[in-house]
Amino acid sequence: MREKGLPIVSQCPCCFHKENVSHLFLQGVATRGVWEYFLAQFNISLPNTTYLQHMFRAGRSSSPFVGHGGIRLLIPTFILWFIWEIWNEVKHNHGRFTTNKIIRRVREYIGLLYHAHRLRFEQWRSKLDVAQAWGIFFIQPRLSKPKVVRWVPPDMGWYKLNTIGAANGNLGIASAGDLFWDHRRG
Ligand SMILES: [Zn+2]
Repeated sequence: MREKGLPIVSQCPCCFHKENVSHLFLQGVATRGVWEYFLAQFNISLPNTTYLQHMFRAGRSSSPFVGHGGIRLLIPTFILWFIWEIWNEVKHNHGRFTTNKIIRRVREYIGLLYHAHRLRFEQWRSKLDVAQAWGIFFIQPRLSKPKVVRWVPPDMGWYKLNTIGAANGNLGIASAGDLFWDHRRG
């Protein structure tokens, strides 16, 4: 095909660099701006690397609260996905390949997930200020304070009745027990 004048090795849609995976997803001018933007949100410095997995590692090691499905690992996945999507659009002559467009797609997608109730507090707990800046609010799970419960014997002349009951389902085998106590715990 190349002999017939059709280029097989295409050029990067952002800067006419010879296209390859590392350039498209990591090092191209437009792409690099996307990584810079999102990493800066999470106070992560941009790794100087040609390996995509280093971007995931940067996210993973940046907080003790990453966990499964953490936003620090989701965003790199979304970035790669929308770079790929927009690159394909550009290939078919739909629009341009720009930093802002990729950032907007990622942000819009996160917004869609949020409105579909697909984002959880635990995914964002390492960076709630970013969530709020992006209009994502969670009702934080309220931790109830542990309360010390202690049995106290009744005063002299009084009796205390403690009861307990259990049933095996509705109308199943049931049992109940009770205990009377006086002030000597007798
Ligand atoms: Zn480029």
